[in-house]
Amino acid sequence: MLTRSLRDRSTQGRELANSQRLVPELPEVETVRAGAEPHLLGRRLLAVHLTRDDLRWPMPKAALQQLTGRCCTAVTRRSKYLLVHFDGTDAPAALIHLGMTGRVLVEATTATAERPPYRTHEHWRMDFGDRLMRFIDPRRFGALDVVPRSQFTSHPRLVDLGQEPLEAAFDGAFLHRFSRARTAAIKSLLMDSHVLVGVGNIYASEACWRAHVRPRRAAKTLTRHECTALAIGVQEVLRAAITAGGTSFRDYVGVDEHAGFFARELAVYERVGEPCRRCSHLIKRAVDAGRSTYWCAGCQK
Ligand SMILES: [Zn+2]
Repeated sequence: MLTRSLRDRSTQGRELANSQRLVPELPEVETVRAGAEPHLLGRRLLAVHLTRDDLRWPMPKAALQQLTGRCCTAVTRRSKYLLVHFDGTDAPAALIHLGMTGRVLVEATTATAERPPYRTHEHWRMDFGDRLMRFIDPRRFGALDVVPRSQFTSHPRLVDLGQEPLEAAFDGAFLHRFSRARTAAIKSLLMDSHVLVGVGNIYASEACWRAHVRPRRAAKTLTRHECTALAIGVQEVLRAAITAGGTSFRDYVGVDEHAGFFARELAVYERVGEPCRRCSHLIKRAVDAGRSTYWCAGCQK
């Protein structure tokens, strides 16, 4: 049902040739987190099954087996990583990344029911008795690792990550401070994961439109007021996308990160030549280092 509706909309809607559109960004990962947590919380992991040795990196077989017998205590997110937390010695977490094409499914079952056959490109599953968590990733840029609590900030995948955009510490003062010495475009600062995590190409253009700021302006030319507007714009566009993704959980237990993509109301992204929704000037596009940037020259300064 979901698959069919996506296909219908992709053929009749605007072109989807640009595959970056389908790469999970922060809102999709947050949607997966929020969808998965109620199904895993308090449940005991009975078994971990791998169908191969590696994804983007090798998967740690022994450490994964040591998660069995433990109960899930939380499902959190850091940047675009999902962390499935467990109780017991070291309070470890399974660290999951969706890569470019990864999907996490959480399905209701019963402890005694026969397990479903593996799907094509299904690389691991975690069996929680009456819930089955499955990972499907055709391109295998995804990741699965195990991180003890003591390494949540020092693990190689997590150590260099910047500020979370939806936390209170991300505000106009933060952007103003980090933009003073930067001659590069403000959009590239928003997408610098050492400074700020989880703001990809789509959301960076959209946030600049909300803030009335041209995305290719030198970061250091932004006023304090513009930095505040931009921080609010980033948070608004991410929250709107999370809200849109969240509505797809009503009818099924499965978690599909693609579900939220088409509910987005994009103001500028992939709208080159179309009228701005605020001022009716036509949306412009430029390509820098292979990435498209969209803005309105009428109302973005
Ligand atoms: Zn405009």
